[in-house]
Amino acid sequence: MTGIPSSSGLADGPALVYLHSSIITEKEHILPSRIQKEVSRFHAAVKTVSKELEQIGDDSTTSKDILETHRMMLGDPEFIRAVDAMIEQEAVCAPWAVKTTIETMTKPLESSKDAVFRERAMDFEDVSLQIIRVLEGQPQHGLSHLDHDVILVGDKLLPSELFSIDKTHVLGIALDGGGPTSHIAILTRSLRIPTVLALGSFSSKVHNGDEVIVDGNYGEVFVRPELGAKRTVKERNERMQEEQHQLDMLSRLPTVTTDGHTMKILANIEMVGEVPMVKQVGSDGIGLYRSEYLILEGGEKISEDTQFENYKSVIQAMAPNPVTIRTFDIGGDKVVPGLGIDEQNPILGWRAVRFCLARKDIFSVQLRALLRASVYGKLRIMFPMISGVKELDDVLAVLDQAKRELDEQGIPYDHQVRVGTMIEVPSAALCADLLAGRVDFFSIGTNDLIQYTLAVDRGNEKIAYLYQPLHPAVLRSIKMIIDKGHFAGIPVGMCGEMAGNGFLSPLLCGLGLDEFSMDPQSVLAVRRNLRMVSYAECGELADAVLQLDESEAIKTYMKDWMERHERKNE
Ligand code: PEP
Ligand code: MG
Repeated sequence: MTGIPSSSGLADGPALVYLHSSIITEKEHILPSRIQKEVSRFHAAVKTVSKELEQIGDDSTTSKDILETHRMMLGDPEFIRAVDAMIEQEAVCAPWAVKTTIETMTKPLESSKDAVFRERAMDFEDVSLQIIRVLEGQPQHGLSHLDHDVILVGDKLLPSELFSIDKTHVLGIALDGGGPTSHIAILTRSLRIPTVLALGSFSSKVHNGDEVIVDGNYGEVFVRPELGAKRTVKERNERMQEEQHQLDMLSRLPTVTTDGHTMKILANIEMVGEVPMVKQVGSDGIGLYRSEYLILEGGEKISEDTQFENYKSVIQAMAPNPVTIRTFDIGGDKVVPGLGIDEQNPILGWRAVRFCLARKDIFSVQLRALLRASVYGKLRIMFPMISGVKELDDVLAVLDQAKRELDEQGIPYDHQVRVGTMIEVPSAALCADLLAGRVDFFSIGTNDLIQYTLAVDRGNEKIAYLYQPLHPAVLRSIKMIIDKGHFAGIPVGMCGEMAGNGFLSPLLCGLGLDEFSMDPQSVLAVRRNLRMVSYAECGELADAVLQLDESEAIKTYMKDWMERHERKNE
C-alpha cells in the first residue's frame, strides 16, 4: 500500500497494532453542591498533565517545541476559563466540559484547507484526551514498556503517545492517518524513525506479529511480504541511498551554473525544529519562516519575549546566513480561533498585512521582537500580501515606529536590517517598479500569485487543472517582477512551491531569479539541476518559452529541452 512518505529509511519487523482508543466521554449532570469540587478536580488534572509533560526527558529541539506547545495549550487562560464556565453554568462533569470546549475551539481549525492548521486541531485533541484520561483515572499509554523491536501500526498517533513510547524498540511507523506537515511527521523525521502516513485502512489488514516493511523513502508499506517484494524494496533503496549520497555531496557546494553564474538556495520553515534539517542540507539560509504558526500555537497574546526567543534561536542557529522572517500571514485559509476572522470570502479578505494594520497591537509586538532579535545574526523582515504602495508605506511606518520605540528605550537592534516584500498579489506585480524603490528585496509568492492571477482557489480540487504555474500570464508576471526588481537594483527571490520544483529550475534561472527558497528536502536536487546547466542556455530557454501561448505547449517545449540537454551532456 502507498501512503505519504514522512520520514525516510527502511524498516522491517513484527507489527504491533496500536489502535487509538478514544476515550468515550458521557455527558453527566452534577449537583450544584459539587460544582466547585468539579472545577478543582479539573484544575488538578491540568496540573498533573503539566507535570507529566515536564517529566518527559526528550531534549531534541523538535520535541521541546511540541511539548512547549502542549504546555501552552494547557495553560491557555481562555481554555481554562471556558471549561470552568461550562462546569459552573451548565452543571456538567469536567470531562464533558473539557471535551466540548476543545471541540468548539478546534472546529475552525479542522475545516481549514491548510493541513498544518488541521494538525493543530489534533494537538488540542491530544491535550484534551490527556486531561480526560487523568480525570477518568486511566493510566498513561500502554506503549512505554516495549521489550522487543516492533513496527508500530496504528490508526493515528498523538505526539504525547510518541513521547511516551520506548523509541529504541520502534523500528518503523505506519499510520492510517496523518499528513506530511503533522507534528507526528516532523517528530518522526527528527527521531529518524522510518514512517509512512495516510495509509487509509492499513491497520485493519495487519495482525500483531505480522511481518511489516515500512519504506519511508517511497511511502510504501508491505504486510507479510513475499521474497520477491522484499528483494525489490531492498534493491531500490540501495539505488536511492546511492543517489542521496551523491546529493549529500552537494551540501557543501555553491549553486553555480557551468558558466559561473551563482544563485542562492534557501529553505522554507514553519517551526524552529526544522532548522537542523535546513543546516544539514547546506542551504544558504532561510528564505521564508512562516511566523504565523507561532500565533496559532501560542495564541494572539504570544508575548514579545517568547517571540524574541524564538526568532533569536533561528537567527543565531543560521548565522552568518540570512533568515527571512515573514510577519504574521494569518487569515485566508489560516484560521486563528478567537481573532474574529470568519468571512464569506477569506482568501480575498482580512488577512496578512491587512489584519496586522488593523491590529497594530499584535503587529507592533512582533516587529519589536524581530528587531530585538536582529542583533544575533542576519535577519530579513518580509511582509506578506502587499497589494500596493500605500499599504507598503503604512506597514513601513509601523516598523519605523517600532524602531523609534526601541531607540527611546536604548534597546539595540540592527539598523541595517533588510526589509522586503512578498510579491504575491497581481496588483503588486503590476506595480513592482513602484514598490521596488521602497524595499531591499522582493520574494515572489507563487502559491498565491498563481491563485490570484488565474482566479483559481489554490485549495479547490475541482478546478485544480486550472492552477497552472506555466500559464503565460504567470511566467510574464514573474519575468516582470524580476526585471523591475533588478532595474531598481534589488535581488529577487521566490518562496512559493514553484521554486522547489526541479523541473522548473533552469527556466527560473533563465528568467533571472537570484534566490530560490523551498522545502528543505528539495534544496539539494534543485542545486544539482542548476549546477548542470549554463546561465546562457537557461536564458535562451526562458526567451523561447515566453514566446509560447499556453502551458501545455510550454511544458512540452521544456521536456524536449531537458532531453536535448541531457543527451548533449551524456
Ligand atoms: C506563497 O503564497 O507563495 C507563499 C510562499 O506563501 P504561503 O504559501 O504561506 O501563502
Ligand atoms: Mg502566500
